[in-house]
Amino acid sequence: MNEWQTLSHLSPEAWAHVLLQQDPLYRRIPAAEVPDCIRRGIQAGLDAAKHWTLDGVYQAIETQNVALCTEPGEGACGIHAEYSSAAISVSGRCEIRLYEKTMQAIVSQAQQHGIPLSLQQVTNLHLAHEFFHYLEDTNQVAASQTEYSVSFRLCYLFRQNRKIQSLHEIAAHLFAQRLCHAEFHPLQLDWLLLRQQDEAQAKAFYDACLRANDLTKGGNP
Ligand SMILES: [Zn+2]
Repeated sequence: MNEWQTLSHLSPEAWAHVLLQQDPLYRRIPAAEVPDCIRRGIQAGLDAAKHWTLDGVYQAIETQNVALCTEPGEGACGIHAEYSSAAISVSGRCEIRLYEKTMQAIVSQAQQHGIPLSLQQVTNLHLAHEFFHYLEDTNQVAASQTEYSVSFRLCYLFRQNRKIQSLHEIAAHLFAQRLCHAEFHPLQLDWLLLRQQDEAQAKAFYDACLRANDLTKGGNP
C-alpha cells in the first residue's frame, strides 16, 4: 500500500484530531473533552450533508445570495479557497472564492504520483467545503454543534473565553467529503501539496496523521 492509500484508510476521527491539533487553542482543551469535540465536529458535517447534494449546492449558487468567484492565481498564505460573508465582501453578496492555480497544483501532484484525481473533483471538494461555511454564516445549519469554547486565565489575571474554530473545519471537511462521495479525507489534498513544496514537512504531516489514527482508535483520542 502506498502512502496515499494508507492515508485514505485513516478514520474520520483521526483526520478530525489532526485538524483539532492545528488549532492554536488545542492545548487549552481539557484532554477528557477532546473526544467530544471531535464527535461534535464530525456529527455537524454529517447532519448537514443529509440535507444537501452537490447538484443542490450548484443550484443554490444560482438561486441564493452567494456568488462563486474563480481566481486564476493563488490565495494569500497558501489558502486554496475562502468564504466571505455579505457584510465584508465588496459585492455585498456572500462569496466563495476558489484559487485555480492551487487546484491545478494539487491535480498535477496527483498525476505525478499516479493518483486518480480530476480538477473537477478538487474544485467540487473545495466548493462544498466553503459552501458549508456559507450555510453556517446564514444560519442554515445548527450552530450549537460546532460552538465550543475554552476558558482559561491569561497571565494569571484575566479569564478568557475563546471559541475553538477547528470544529467548523472538521464539519466542513466531512460535509464536503460526503457530498462529493470522496474515498479520501479532503485534508489529504494538503499532504499532496506539501509534497510539492517541502518533502520534510510532508513527511512530518504524514507521521502526525498516523499518530492521530493510533490515538483515536477505540474512540479515545
Ligand atoms: Zn474552512
